[in-house]
Amino acid sequence: MDPKPPSPPHVLIFPCPAQGHVNSMLKLTELLLPAGLHITFLISAKDHDRLSRFTTVHSRLSSYPGFRFHVIHGLYEGPIDTDEKLSLMLIDSLPKVTTPLLRMLLLDSQVTCFIADGILGFSLDAAAGTGVPVMFFRTISACAFWAYFCIPDLINSGDLPFQGTNLDERIVNVKGMEGFLRRRDLPSFCRSGLSNTTFQEVSSITRRTPDAHALILNTFEDLEGPILSHIQKHCPNNNIYTIGPLHAHLKARSISKSTSSNSLFQEDRTCIGWLDQHAPKSVLYVSFGSIATLTRDQLIEFWHGLVNSEKPFLWVIREDLVSSLDDENKVPSELEKGTKERGYLVGWAPQEDVLTHSAVGAFLTHNGWNSTLESIVEGVPMVSWPFFADQQPNSRFVEAVWKLGLDMKDTCDRRIVEKIVKEVMEVRKEEFEESARRMAKLAKESVSSGGSSYRNLDRLIEDIKMMTA
Ligand code: UDP
Repeated sequence: MDPKPPSPPHVLIFPCPAQGHVNSMLKLTELLLPAGLHITFLISAKDHDRLSRFTTVHSRLSSYPGFRFHVIHGLYEGPIDTDEKLSLMLIDSLPKVTTPLLRMLLLDSQVTCFIADGILGFSLDAAAGTGVPVMFFRTISACAFWAYFCIPDLINSGDLPFQGTNLDERIVNVKGMEGFLRRRDLPSFCRSGLSNTTFQEVSSITRRTPDAHALILNTFEDLEGPILSHIQKHCPNNNIYTIGPLHAHLKARSISKSTSSNSLFQEDRTCIGWLDQHAPKSVLYVSFGSIATLTRDQLIEFWHGLVNSEKPFLWVIREDLVSSLDDENKVPSELEKGTKERGYLVGWAPQEDVLTHSAVGAFLTHNGWNSTLESIVEGVPMVSWPFFADQQPNSRFVEAVWKLGLDMKDTCDRRIVEKIVKEVMEVRKEEFEESARRMAKLAKESVSSGGSSYRNLDRLIEDIKMMTA
């Protein structure tokens, strides 16, 4: 009798329970499954429920016999829209609730490899002694990762915590960013007033990366090569797999045509019909992602700026974008005319399809990493208004390094919104379109057969398969 064939490698995947994190780790999962790996994906009850109601990714994944969701109960399910809430979740509630479950799965489920969200540093403790190698996947850019990684050094050099309030002061102790990084470009928790202990604890999370078996990043070499070479020196066996942009990679391998359907909110697709009525590159798409919240005053400033810019605009106003927004009276009366003439508002958009649309000429974005990559792949110039976390370094790179748009962080004034939108869509339109086009080409090449991200994904899959040998 032939011996029983060895079972396929079994990978446990554990994202931080937040839309951007779940979304990109689902994409990673979809890239790994066709290689015959078995995957268990940990997900909160609320996200699992939303995925099965609103998306096609749930059924796509479930069609693989080697795939299963494992639902985690008892997680905090409120908003995570401040550094305080995020920090508490990372260092307190998540480790408490999930560590026993992780140990049980790692010991009893014949896991070959554990791919944990690198923001969940405690995953290393949960896996200790189980013999299962842990790879960290970071959902952020390499530049933001490197800024987080260097924070303990900035504490040692006295750059942090800040003395004084001048946010324009240069930070010269982050290698590779000496020429352009300012205090205001550091991850937002550096200025959030966290207690000293919490600040130290959160600062040390990224420093745990060298203890993992490898690091996987959703980026590509042509975009972040110089920063990657700094990170590489601190990674075990210099082992970084840059396999992004993930959504473009899925398309390039014909695994999924549109991955925006991974989103955890109900999409309003009527905006595509509205875009169809507009001239090429004439519309400003506005979205602040799934977490950011605005005050009512900020909303009104943006609104005036958009209407005064006289560009048609498609704006995602999530149900919870502004806490005190009353539905009856949503459009401020003085802006009704301009909004009716040029604006289209939705609660949630099919963002990837919107950015692909020929009518979209620029993206006013909070520079969450997924949104930034989606804009880069489609060659859409950006107006940046980062809200928190990694978005601060991302937007600095958009303007100062990649030259893909302008950064208006820390201002929210109708005149500035109008001016910067006009700058990107009129005055310097050609310049930004040209650099966006160039970067989009490089992004697409990286995930095409023979490109750097394409080869790195193949290498990652082979390395995981070797783990069973
Ligand atoms: N997104 C979407 N429709 C919207 C707004 C956002 O599908 O109306 C998707 C977007 O395509 C991206 C994700 O939500 O993939 C947002 O992730 P990002 O990292 O940009 O920001 P976060 O939500 O984590 O702040």
